[in-house]
Order: sequence, then structure tokens, then C-alpha cells
Amino acid sequence: MDPTSALDRRRALSALGAAALCPLVGGPVSARPAEPARPGHSPSLGPGEAWRLLRKGNEYWVGDRLRHPDQSSAHRHRLAEAQHPFAVVVTCIDSRLSPEIVFDQGIGDLFVVRTGAHTLDDLVTGSIEYGPLQDGTPLIVVLGHQRCGAVSAAVSALDGGRRAPGHLADVVEALRPAVTEARRAGGDLVEATVRAQITRTVAVLEHDPALASRVGSGRLGLVGAYYELGTGRLNVLRTKGFTP
Ligand SMILES: [Zn+2]
Repeated sequence: MDPTSALDRRRALSALGAAALCPLVGGPVSARPAEPARPGHSPSLGPGEAWRLLRKGNEYWVGDRLRHPDQSSAHRHRLAEAQHPFAVVVTCIDSRLSPEIVFDQGIGDLFVVRTGAHTLDDLVTGSIEYGPLQDGTPLIVVLGHQRCGAVSAAVSALDGGRRAPGHLADVVEALRPAVTEARRAGGDLVEATVRAQITRTVAVLEHDPALASRVGSGRLGLVGAYYELGTGRLNVLRTKGFTP
């Protein structure tokens, strides 16, 4: 993707962006939102606005009032030439927290990067950097969750002094610092590790050499949030680069 032309396309859609905030935030909840205008595709969208859109979508999910925006064939055709998602969601592989569902978004709205307990390495971090660096994506959300199986496996392996099978051992090793931090915090070790892993992941991205200047200048916001499986609710643990 040519980043310059991508940003130009964002600018061309700016007028649509402002107008589209209203139908998403305050419109009827039973009808499909008006298309084609979607605020996520506005170049003027900042981290705070992007986060408010995700929070509103999560409210729809929690309240069993999903709108299913941006999932029509017309929208699919419209996006065939270019995409400009308004957020990167970095989350676990768990089948119960698909980002487009728990934030009530559609195609073209989110870059999604998923690994066990959102563990990072250079390849994964490169994929996270893609949106902000190539298309000016204004927000990264790190989404950890209750009863994370990857964290449970790591805690079990490290407590038992056993090596996890296959490359799961690499996931366990990547979670070792969070488990160590959680032990110091006390309480339920799995839940404490989940929370430590969320805040640690945000901190790593905050200091990522390719992202730090964007965070510092307010062009890129970071959110670390904990997701409750039963209620679908979010608990924000850490933000950086903007005031939510
Ligand atoms: Zn998980």
C-alpha cells in the first residue's frame, strides 16, 4: 500500500466522517446504520474518538443490541480498492472475543492481530505497526480476557516446572515476565497474570521505537482493556497518548 495515497483517500473522506458520528452514536439501535459514511474512515479521527466508537460498539454488544455495521455487499464492494481501519486490536486467539463482534464493527473497520494471550515477538509487532505506520491508524487496543487458556497453560507449566508441548513453549516463555509480576501482586495467579500481561503489552508498544513518537505527539493512542467473558464488558486498565 502506498501510504501517501492512502492518507489522501482518508482526507477525501473527511467530510463524510464528521457527519457519520451521529448515526452511530445516537441513532436507532435496531436499524442498520446509514451507509456509506462511517466515522472510522475519516482522516481527522483521533485516538479518543476512535476509542469512543469502540466503547459504543461494546455497549451494543453488552446490551444485546448489535447493529452489525459495515457488513453489506455494497460495503464489501466499496472497500475492494482500499481500506482505512480506525483501530488496531491486539488480542488473544480465544474464540469468545472476536473483535468485530465484541466492538460491533464490520469489515474495513479494524486491523486485528491475534496470538495466545496477545504475546509479542518481532513478527507480531511488525503487524501491529502496519496500520499506524502505513495508514495513520490512530488507536491500538490491547484486549486481554478473563480465564485465558494461554495464561492458564503458562501458569501451569511454570508452576510445575514442565515444558509445554511444541511451540506452545514459546508462548509460555513469552508470558513468564507477566507470571513473575503477578506472583508479586498476589491473588488469583491466572487473573493477575492476565492483567499484568495487558499492562505489560501496552507498555511494550508505548516504548516501541517505531510507535513512541506517534504516542508522544497524540497521533496514536493506546488502550489496555480486560474483557469479561460472561457480561462482555470491558475494564480499562491502562491508556496512553490520549484522555479517554
Ligand atoms: Zn486467551
